[in-house]
Amino acid sequence: MTGHPARSDALDVVVIGAGQAGLVMGYHLAQRGLSFLIVDAGAEIGDAWRSRWDSLRLFTPAQFDNLPGMPFPAPRDTYPGKDDVAVLLGWVGGDTAFLAEQIASGDS
Ligand SMILES: Cc1cc2nc3c(=O)[nH]c(=O)nc-3n(C[C@H](O)[C@H](O)[C@H](O)COP(=O)(O)OP(=O)(O)OC[C@H]3O[C@@H](n4cnc5c(N)ncnc54)[C@H](O)[C@@H]3O)c2cc1C
Repeated sequence: MTGHPARSDALDVVVIGAGQAGLVMGYHLAQRGLSFLIVDAGAEIGDAWRSRWDSLRLFTPAQFDNLPGMPFPAPRDTYPGKDDVAVLLGWVGGDTAFLAEQIASGDS
C-alpha cells in the first residue's frame, strides 16, 4: 500500500512510541511511501524527556544527536539539556509535514 489513507483505512504499520526510535521509524516509513500511525502514551511528544530532572544534559555532543532530516539545533560540541531534546522531538513529530497528521497522542 502506498500513500497515506485516512485513519479509518488500513495502515501498513502502527508504531508504538514517539521517542527517537519511533520518530526515526516514521521517517523511514514515509520515505518508503508506507502508511503508518505513531501512538504514544504521553500527552505530548517529548514528555518522556520533559519529565526528567532539570539538570540532565546529554552526554553526547549536539553533532551526534541528530535525527534523520533534522540536525540537532545546537552548536557543535555543546551538550543539550533534556528540554532541548523534548523540543526537538516535538518539532520532528509535530511540525514535520509527513508526520504531523500521523501521530496520535495517548489520549486521542
Ligand atoms: C537519563 C538518560 C540520558 C540519556 N542520555 C543520552 C545521551 O546523552 N546520548 C544518547 O545518545 N543517548 C542517551 N540516552 C539514551 C537515549 O535516550 C535512548 O537511547 C533513546 O531515547 C531511546 O529512544 P526510544 O525511542 O527507543 O525510547 P524512548 O525515548 O524511551 O521513547 C519511548 C516512547 O514510547 C512511549 N511508550 C512507552 N511505552 C508505551 C506504550 N505501552 N504505549 C504507548 N507509548 C509508549 C513513551 O512515552 C516514549 O515517548 C539517555 C537515556 C536516558 C534514560
